[in-house]
Amino acid sequence: MKNKILVTGGAGYIGSHTCIALHEAGYDIVVYDNLSNSSREAIRRVSNLIGESIKFIEGDIRDDEMLGQVFSSNDFFGVIHFAGLKSVSESVAEPLLYYDNNVSGTITLLEVMAEYGIKNLVFSSSATVYGDPETLPIDESSPRSCTNPYGQSKLAVEYILEDLAVSDNSWNLIALRYFNPVGAHSSGQIGEDPNDIPNNLMPYISQVAVGKLEKLSIFGNDYRTIDGTGIRDFIHVIDLAQGHVAALNYLKNQIIINKRDSIRFLPINLGTGNGTSVLELVNTFTEVTGKAIPYQFTDRRKGDVASCYASASKAKFLLGWEAKLSITEMCQDTWNWQSNNPNGYSVKDI
Ligand code: NAD
Ligand code: UDP
Repeated sequence: MKNKILVTGGAGYIGSHTCIALHEAGYDIVVYDNLSNSSREAIRRVSNLIGESIKFIEGDIRDDEMLGQVFSSNDFFGVIHFAGLKSVSESVAEPLLYYDNNVSGTITLLEVMAEYGIKNLVFSSSATVYGDPETLPIDESSPRSCTNPYGQSKLAVEYILEDLAVSDNSWNLIALRYFNPVGAHSSGQIGEDPNDIPNNLMPYISQVAVGKLEKLSIFGNDYRTIDGTGIRDFIHVIDLAQGHVAALNYLKNQIIINKRDSIRFLPINLGTGNGTSVLELVNTFTEVTGKAIPYQFTDRRKGDVASCYASASKAKFLLGWEAKLSITEMCQDTWNWQSNNPNGYSVKDI
């Protein structure tokens, strides 16, 4: 069976780590990315780590002509679709940009895939589609609702994929709902490189540790949780990357034994199943790195939920995948990347 995979958004944080895991698993990858939130330097470093030059095409998923050229000159098994914008606050300020990039871009990709008869897709969804969960841990049948354009764009794509699967049963569509990805490759060569001041907790902590930011604001200490701070399911990006390999392998196996009915549209959580509070993460980071993280408690951040953690049993049952790395390893690897690269990839476009 074919083993060539198009990786949209493959120069980004999760995509770059997944490229390594895919290569190690024997997949042949082509990265397609417009570099709107990443750099050629990431591609260069991934190439160094795998010991060969990654096939990279600079292009936009909204560009049907360019995508058509890519599909006509490569015989893909399927697509892993990371490309998307991911800032909640930016999406509130620029909703049209988010719907255009994330929703219209995905529609264009799906249209080109259909044109070339490539109907296997793994899509980057998010735990944000669960909104404020009614029950914990959150399983895949929990109700979905979102309160910001970023989340709505993920939910919209899920609905589109569901409808597509109903319309034509030759599509095999997996939506991986990530919980909170953190950490970095153990080499310290690649990691998360936010453009501005980080919105997310772990990069904020690591930038305080490295001296780029003065102190962490902890958004709320009056939640009904063990210590009053928010609880999340942090998952190491290396585990997440392996989850994509497992999803692709599952797709392949189901197709080989002709059990496509079990796929169609398949949402799967990728989380550890464990909740960790903001304070617990800060304390573990300090224990592991020896770096004190000055912090202050501030008001809750609008739109935040108290607790969010996955039921990870569907991924284990169907994909044979489970997260292995601990919070300690997540902190260690984040710090290894941040301390070796205080300015991230530093040159955004070279
Ligand atoms: P990232 O920004 O590091 O990577 C996304 C990549 O997509 C970037 O390299 C960017 O340049 C590229 N891209 C964006 N728009 C594009 C377009 N129109 N055409 C081509 N390339 C485009 O983000 P990430 O953290 O690696 O996230 C990957 C995916 O996972 C995103 O879809 C994101 O929404 C989703 N996700 C991320 C998280 C998280 O916390 N990091 C959580 C849940 C879901
Ligand atoms: N958080 C915080 N300070 C920050 C960033 C985040 O206290 O500077 C908290 C946030 O309120 C939430 C948790 O850390 O409880 C995880 O937030 P993040 O933005 O990383 O991920 P989210 O789950 O919101 O997508």
